[in-house]
Amino acid sequence: MSTSVIADVGVVGAGTMGNGIAHVCAQAGFRVTLSDVSLDAARAGLTTIGKNLEVGVQKGKVSAADRDATLGRITVTEGLERLRGCQLVIESVPERLALKQGVFQALSALVADDCILASNTSSLSLTEIAAAARHPERVVGLHFFNPVHLMKLLEVVRAHQTSDATVEAVRAFGASIKKELIVVKDSPGFASSRLGLAVGLEAVRMLEEGVASAEDIDRAMELGYGHPMGPLKLGDLVGLDVRLAIAEYLYAETGSAAFRPPQLLKKLVRAGKLGRKAGEGFYRYRAD
Ligand code: NAD
Repeated sequence: MSTSVIADVGVVGAGTMGNGIAHVCAQAGFRVTLSDVSLDAARAGLTTIGKNLEVGVQKGKVSAADRDATLGRITVTEGLERLRGCQLVIESVPERLALKQGVFQALSALVADDCILASNTSSLSLTEIAAAARHPERVVGLHFFNPVHLMKLLEVVRAHQTSDATVEAVRAFGASIKKELIVVKDSPGFASSRLGLAVGLEAVRMLEEGVASAEDIDRAMELGYGHPMGPLKLGDLVGLDVRLAIAEYLYAETGSAAFRPPQLLKKLVRAGKLGRKAGEGFYRYRAD
């Protein structure tokens, strides 16, 4: 079966990533329904979108008319029922396989047969997520980056079951929301998380061995390789608990020593030093 033209996009989960995804889709002209477990959470997502658009207006990058039209295209809702008429639904709930599979199962019972179901997972197996859907050939990974409205990359992840038509449809969709696409097959950590983790975990091991200070390890990649942010700073930004969970998953899946979680990372997480959000990780942060 071919896929129909995408005009209505549903987003499940209005947190850090979900509201960013709703933002870029609405700004590109799609009608967006942003759903969460509670209406308050969905409304909070819309408030964040409004604030981010306002920053764009202040910087002269977004017109006031564009801000208003973008917000006007977003409807917030509790639960999944109002996603029934969407041609594309993008799931962005927390990184737990059973939770995501439950969402895909519920969506499968609701949407039309030709609706594409996408997941924003950053590491879980798309093939396992797709297995929970009624039409696994129309399941695909759409891995966005944080903050979604500023980061150019969109990593399209092809599950074992994903059809060519689905990949072509999301390629066109990705171009229409002005992202640069890469297409990777489902494998642990895809391309971005696998490479990012390998560098990030090696940086932790170097810090553990006393090779250099955290500042100097970060400066090596910032000044020597042009990375906008060193790997330890980036770990603090993403959250050390999130980093550790992905490392444990990749180590279990691949057995590669590159992903063995370093002791220092485990210790920091056990001590509650989770990075920026906790006020301390590899660095200390002032409370603003
Ligand atoms: P988050 O915790 O900020 O947001 C998750 C939202 O999902 C919350 O608002 C929660 O209320 C909602 N939710 C939970 N269960 C739900 C359900 N059954 N139905 C509807 N909504 C539900 O999480 P996040 O950081 O936005 O991450 C979401 C996904 O994006 C994860 O898979 C994560 O791995 C991935 N991701 C995160 C980042 C990042 O930098 N944070 C980057 C790329 C990908």
